[in-house]
Amino acid sequence: MKKTDYKDMWVYIEHDGQTAADVGLELLCEVRKLCDTTGDRLFAVILGNLPETETGKIINCGADGIIRVKGTGYGYFNTDAWSNAFTVLCRKYNPSAVFVGGTINGRDFAPRFAVQLNTGCTSDAMELGYDPETGDIRFIEPAVGGKIMAVITVPELRPQIATIRPGTFKYAPCGARGEISVIEEEISFDPGAVRCRRLDYFPDESDPELDIANADCIVCVGNGLKDQEHLERYRTLAKLLGGKIGCTRPLYERGILPYKLQIGQSGVMVKTKLYISFGVSGAVNHTAGVDADVFVAVDKNPDAQIFNFCDYGIVGDMDEICDEMIAQLRARKGQ
Ligand SMILES: Cc1cc2nc3c(=O)[nH]c(=O)nc-3n(C[C@H](O)[C@H](O)[C@H](O)COP(=O)(O)OP(=O)(O)OC[C@H]3O[C@@H](n4cnc5c(N)ncnc54)[C@H](O)[C@@H]3O)c2cc1C
Repeated sequence: MKKTDYKDMWVYIEHDGQTAADVGLELLCEVRKLCDTTGDRLFAVILGNLPETETGKIINCGADGIIRVKGTGYGYFNTDAWSNAFTVLCRKYNPSAVFVGGTINGRDFAPRFAVQLNTGCTSDAMELGYDPETGDIRFIEPAVGGKIMAVITVPELRPQIATIRPGTFKYAPCGARGEISVIEEEISFDPGAVRCRRLDYFPDESDPELDIANADCIVCVGNGLKDQEHLERYRTLAKLLGGKIGCTRPLYERGILPYKLQIGQSGVMVKTKLYISFGVSGAVNHTAGVDADVFVAVDKNPDAQIFNFCDYGIVGDMDEICDEMIAQLRARKGQ
């Protein structure tokens, strides 16, 4: 088959049996725009049972159709049944592209079915483009430590498969698109052939302090932090602002803050009203994960790259400026 014989773009809708995860809906909204450029139709792919009420959200994101897969093997996530289902579906319908949320599960099964289909899988693109001459999607992401933006394409093989991190694209539904095609598929996977056994299940004990993706205010601490003992003042500032604390990768690597608080390309993508960074140099791997209405940066180096991203820049010692902000806020609050 020629690559031009592959048509339509698919988005995998991850869900917990009740609700569609945000990432699938975000991808639908973004891939809708791509399909409007390429002329492809946009399909949402659902494995296992998802209540009909959730279908409305999917349609509202501009899907032209839904592919529902029923059968055995989908009781709980396992990479064998999931990658098998997508392999079977792709061989039958030949989509041009398949987008999967870059969650723990998505990053597990997407590369596996890409291998089974002998095609390419890209991860963590921050922008999507399209080359009308070649018909290839352009997956754009920071590379070489953020020094360049790499454009990745799958020039010969199809489908073009991609995992995209939650929060990379905005959930901005364009509204329903008229008639929706619904395809029902029965693809059973022998539960006995699943190589991974679920012995027990403990829902993620979600500590609200670690859920920063949509916090109204984030105080982000970077590698300029001397040590753990200096961290407390930043927690105090975050609390006074009604916000949460986040960090850059080096702080996670130094064992000072947990991975869930790492913001950026390989961490969490945040959307916030106010973002204040302290001792953050401004590598694109970090700033690519920040969508802030107001961005304030504090750094002792006046030439730090972060000053090219921020709305307000303060040159000075991070601890001193944090203490001054705390003092000013306390004075205003009469504390
Ligand atoms: C594939 C890949 C993915 C990555 N993903 C991420 C990611 O998701 N998130 C992420 O954060 N990084 C990520 N990185 C790492 C990224 O490239 C940078 O190395 C990192 O963001 C730098 O963190 P930083 O700004 O805190 O540290 P540094 O670059 O070390 O900067 C520290 C800053 O602190 C300032 N400073 C020092 N002391 C003081 C002081 N007393 N007062 C004020 N300022 C001070 C310095 O002037 C400097 O600007 C990734 C890298 C790669 C290769």
